[in-house]
Amino acid sequence: MFDKILVANRGEIALRVIRAAREMGIKSVAVHSTADADAMHVRMADESVCIGPPSGTESYLSIPAIIAACEVTGAQAIHPGYGFLSENAGFVQIVEDHGITFIGPRAEHIRVMGDKITAKDTMKKLGVPCVPGSDGGVPTLEAAQKLGAEMGYPVIIKATAGGGGRGMKVAQTVKDMENAFYSARSEAKAAFGNDEVYIEKYLTTPRHIEIQVFGDGKGKAVHLGERDCSLQRRHQKVFEEAPGPCITEEERARIGKICADAVAAINYAGAGTIEFLYEQGEFYFIEMNTRLQVEHPVTEAIFGVDLVREQIRVAEGLPLSFEQEDLQINGHAIEVRINAETVPGFAPRPGKITAFHAPGGLGVRMDSALYDGYSIPPYYDSLIGKLIVHGRDRREALARLDRALGELIVDGVENTTPLFEMLLGEEDIITGNYNIHWLEHWLEETF
Ligand code: ADP
Repeated sequence: MFDKILVANRGEIALRVIRAAREMGIKSVAVHSTADADAMHVRMADESVCIGPPSGTESYLSIPAIIAACEVTGAQAIHPGYGFLSENAGFVQIVEDHGITFIGPRAEHIRVMGDKITAKDTMKKLGVPCVPGSDGGVPTLEAAQKLGAEMGYPVIIKATAGGGGRGMKVAQTVKDMENAFYSARSEAKAAFGNDEVYIEKYLTTPRHIEIQVFGDGKGKAVHLGERDCSLQRRHQKVFEEAPGPCITEEERARIGKICADAVAAINYAGAGTIEFLYEQGEFYFIEMNTRLQVEHPVTEAIFGVDLVREQIRVAEGLPLSFEQEDLQINGHAIEVRINAETVPGFAPRPGKITAFHAPGGLGVRMDSALYDGYSIPPYYDSLIGKLIVHGRDRREALARLDRALGELIVDGVENTTPLFEMLLGEEDIITGNYNIHWLEHWLEETF
């Protein structure tokens, strides 16, 4: 069993891990940049180590600094959170080479799923339904045009190394292909240092449905249903809910079993998310994330489980603490992402928080590292809080969200709270009638 773990992250997710560790009687070590010396995760952890200057590359992404912090403090394991080093297979290898446990899957699984072409290939062989598309990378414009003609337009050109919605371009017709192909390649090169792209059929009105899976690393795995994350802006999620408003019990059981069996077959360890596009009753795999997701709390709410605790237990070599039959859905949960950004421009707004008050009461959870007088530094992402509500059904969850948003106070910086207050007045949001394009259309019409 671990006595002490190091959290290689910042912000709300660092708090999330520190909280789980404390409940398990495990000491926590925070690491931080000089810009984060006063951050909440530093205050809340049992110990802290400064690992470098503000820039992420020199601090939260600095592998030598993080390993040194482990050695100095005697931490036996590292939880990577999400983002930063959480899906870096090279990091996992180095951690293990130093006799430290990585709280997450094995390096080989991160590597396979980090390359989207290999990931799709692997999933296809494991019986997971995929979006129709190219067999591997598409090296030339001629090859891309040939495929477009065969598959029929629209198509989407995607970076093999992609993530965060970058390196993705849609070609509506053959005329768009040249531009889409080259701009996807150059964006991929700039963002990931790898310009390989592949092509998929572009689904026109899908929902984004993702399945939470959990493996024990020894051939056993379960699924924890789906999350609907269709409300997106520039392929970035802003509002997530579980269960999906349009997914039936039969569909959940079917796709959930396919996913659990797939990860069991590869001896996957820990939390993972298998992402699908869902259109007309069919699921199409797009990618797998080999880490805890930002939106994991909606799943925790409806299943009554602590996913971080489970991650730590699996890393300790313990069996899963639940069987598939134990996992029953209770009610409905919604998460909204509070970002320090303007609405509707979504321009980052770092700065000083003059007043912060988190909502409370039955079925309300606020995961945030904010406090009165805190200065949001300009160096990192703009997520400053997640408001999660849980109700007996979707209607109650929506009413609770409305009530909780009314109680939330984040003064001093512009943030996305007003966006959600507006969305709650929309018929389509109330009925759950939206797809991955809904939010962008609504933003265009409304502002
Ligand atoms: P990333 O890793 O950059 O997040 P994903 O492959 O997960 O990229 O796709 C992100 C989003 O892009 C999806 O949720 C969806 O909105 C859109 N998308 C991706 N592939 C397709 C496709 N074949 N057809 C339509 N939309 C797609």
